[in-house]
Amino acid sequence: MNASQDSAVGERTAPRGRAGAARSVGAGRPESRVAMVRRARKINRVLADVFSYAHPELDFENPYQLLVATVLSAQTTDLRVNQTTPRLFAAYPTPEDLAAADPAVVEEIIRPTGFFRAKTKSLIGLSAALRDEFGGEVPGRLEDLVRLPGVGRKTAHVVLGNAFGKPGITVDTHFQRLVRRWRWTEESEPEKIEAAVAEIFPKKEWTMLSHRVIFHGRRICHSRKPACGACPVAHLCPSYGEGETDPEKARKLLKYELGGQPGQRLKPPADYPGKPAPAAGP
Ligand code: SF4
Repeated sequence: MNASQDSAVGERTAPRGRAGAARSVGAGRPESRVAMVRRARKINRVLADVFSYAHPELDFENPYQLLVATVLSAQTTDLRVNQTTPRLFAAYPTPEDLAAADPAVVEEIIRPTGFFRAKTKSLIGLSAALRDEFGGEVPGRLEDLVRLPGVGRKTAHVVLGNAFGKPGITVDTHFQRLVRRWRWTEESEPEKIEAAVAEIFPKKEWTMLSHRVIFHGRRICHSRKPACGACPVAHLCPSYGEGETDPEKARKLLKYELGGQPGQRLKPPADYPGKPAPAAGP
C-alpha cells in the first residue's frame, strides 16, 4: 500500500471506528428506505475515493478475451485465470481458432482453472456460436450474450460493462455478501439483488460500483474475517464488529495492494498502485 492509500484507508477508520458505526447505523429505530439509500450512496462515494483505481481484475485486450477469461473465472481466482490465458490466447487468438481447437489441447491448457472439461466445452461452443452467428464478433447485447454456452448474466454484465461501456451490475459472491452486510436488500437471488441495487444507484454508476464493491470484498471485507478495524466504511456499516475490530490486527488482514502484496493482474492498468501479479511458474 502506498502512503496515500494508507492514509485513505486509515483516515476513515481511525476517527470513526465502532462508536461512529453504532451512532450511524444498526442501533435504535429501523432504518427508513431514504436513509438506507443515502447511506448506500455514501458507501459508494467512500469506496470511489479509496479504490479510485478499481477495475476488472482479469487481463484482456479485446471483448473475445474478456468473454473467455470471464467464463474461465468460474470457481477460481482471477489470478489463476490471468496466469492461464496468455498461453490460451497465443494458441487461439480468435474465436475461429478456438472453435476449431482440439478439445484435448484446450483442456490441458486450462486445467489449472478447474472444471476444465466443462469449461473447454463452453469455450469451444461459444466460439463456434460467435463464428457462425455473429461473424466472429462478441455481441454487445445482453440477450445475445446469455444465449452463448457457459454465459450467464454475471458474465454478460462483465463483458458489457468493461468491453462495451454498457452499465451493468455484477452480482458475484463478494457483491452478494457485502450487500447483505450493508443491508441494501433482503433479496438472496443474484437476479433480484441486481434489480434491488439498480433501484438504489443511477445507471451510470453500475459498472464502477460493481468493481469497487468487489475490490472491497477481496481486500477488506473478507468472507470469514472482515477487517472491520481497518475499514473505510465502518461508520456506515450495520455489520461492523462481524470481523476484527482491533486496528493493528485488522490491518494485517488487508490483501493485495492494501496488504503490500501483488495484485491479480499480470498487466494491471497504469494507475494501479500495487505490484503486478507474477506470471505462472514453469
Ligand atoms: S469490513 Fe466490517 S465494517 Fe467494513 S464493510 Fe465489512 S463488515 Fe462492515
